[in-house]
Amino acid sequence: MSGNRLRNIVIVGGGTAGWMTAAAFSNVMGKHYNICLVESDEIATIGVGEATIPMIKDFNVALDLDENEFLRATQGTYKLGIEFVNWGQVGDSYIHGFGKIGQDLGPFACYQYWLKMHQAGEASDLENYSINTLAPRTSKFLRSEPEMAGSPLGDINNAFHFDASLYAKFLRGYSEKRGVVRTEGRIVQTVLREADGFIESVVLASGEKISGDFFIDCSGTRALLIGDALKRDYEDWSHWLPCDRAIAVPCESVTPLVPFTRSTAHSAGWQWRIPLQHRIGNGHVYSSRFMSQDEATSILLNNLDGKQLAEPRYIPFIPGRRKETWHKNCVAVGLSSGFFEPIESTNIHLIQAAIARVIRLFPNMGFQQADIDEYNAQTQFEYERIRDFIILHYKATQRDDSPFWNHCRNMDIPATLQHKIDLFSSNGRFFREGSELFGEVSWVQVMHGQGIRPQSYNPLVDLRSKEEIKMFLGNIESVIKKCVDVMPTHEDYIAQHCAASVPQVMASPSVR
Ligand code: FAD
Repeated sequence: MSGNRLRNIVIVGGGTAGWMTAAAFSNVMGKHYNICLVESDEIATIGVGEATIPMIKDFNVALDLDENEFLRATQGTYKLGIEFVNWGQVGDSYIHGFGKIGQDLGPFACYQYWLKMHQAGEASDLENYSINTLAPRTSKFLRSEPEMAGSPLGDINNAFHFDASLYAKFLRGYSEKRGVVRTEGRIVQTVLREADGFIESVVLASGEKISGDFFIDCSGTRALLIGDALKRDYEDWSHWLPCDRAIAVPCESVTPLVPFTRSTAHSAGWQWRIPLQHRIGNGHVYSSRFMSQDEATSILLNNLDGKQLAEPRYIPFIPGRRKETWHKNCVAVGLSSGFFEPIESTNIHLIQAAIARVIRLFPNMGFQQADIDEYNAQTQFEYERIRDFIILHYKATQRDDSPFWNHCRNMDIPATLQHKIDLFSSNGRFFREGSELFGEVSWVQVMHGQGIRPQSYNPLVDLRSKEEIKMFLGNIESVIKKCVDVMPTHEDYIAQHCAASVPQVMASPSVR
């Protein structure tokens, strides 16, 4: 071990970001490093953030978590994708599913063959060609297992929904068992070293001083270290991402227990619906430029499926990112580093990605600037590509029924996004850029789902006869349908494998 090794890591904040960082660090570093997490019971966590994308499974595997135990502890459910209602036009519904679409044939993805037949009016809905989009329509779920490889069942790709506060509690237990020391207290001051401006310590209201070599700022939107102390600027993206408010409220569960998040567009934003075992998490994300808080609250409360379980919580936010998320001896992880509205459930993934990147670029006391620059460059790329994907949801709409949607349809968008839309609009093509998070299946489903129709398709597809393509697509469609037919319902699957001990609160759907 190098004598230059740093010893003391201080994590500031005990929300999802803080405890995910503590869990991952303690798993990798064991007791070779001193890891301290400071949080204040006086300052609530954001308390939302309950829908994920499939990469969370990698995080769980890296921590060696038992999936059933994790779901039981967090009242968790499975998620095969997101249903978007009323986005392209009022009355529309499509699913952005996490699994693949059909199979490749020769050099082309299934989508190209489907596109040709769809343009000829001879292919059914795109949803029928992916198990991740067909199964949710009948609330079916099955975990893919290695022995299912080769069947569409082996292609099922899932994420999770979970209760955010139970998730932090679960990871706290995991971290403390591995040596993380939690300190309760409100931080009132950050002390910088005179010589180089590095963070030396944080001071609690009690007067206790906590010193460290490396600080992870998980203090949420307060950004105590990266913002207040180190003065790293925040880049506001609200000219592209128009929503800046959220209202969250839980309601009782209803049957069926669907294996997807629902996002329903309203006249100045959209509503999330996240089904957990013990309740449904709901929220209305909207633009304060186009809608008042009272109107947004009443839309949300009038669109709950079950009985309201608590008073609404109001959460203002600024969509954007911190320009530098690693500066000197401090890395911002979680909301302190930036925030995308939750339409594609990307923020917990960004936490996970940041943690993995810090571990790969882990510093010694020297804090090499080249490592820090690499970290910041990778983070910026990741944020910008996710940003484009999210803007797509607002831009690609035919809705003209409200000033908000007229604004979104007509707004300027980044050139990088325009390029992807142009490429898809011509011949239905998409190319993933480097390590960008969302790949072809995601982009194609959202662009198609929101009404973008390519003018043509790759002409080389015509080298196969129509009959051959018809048979190829027909076979995919019928095999997927047969597989969905034999899958259990999501509710039955959970009851068999990972039901939480506190019984589910189930009620009949409310009549609106
Ligand atoms: P917080 O939860 O705010 O935690 C901050 C911590 O810092 C707390 O423990 C607090 O006590 C501590 N702290 C702050 N100041 C001090 C101080 N002075 N002294 C000591 N401690 C202090 N993400 C998804 O992936 N999926 C979703 O579905 C999703 N939905 C969302 C919906 C909304 C409306 C919002 C706003 C966010 C959503 N997110 C979602 C994002 C997700 O909630 C966050 O990324 C995640 O919860 C991480 O938050 P955090 O830990 O950074 O901050």
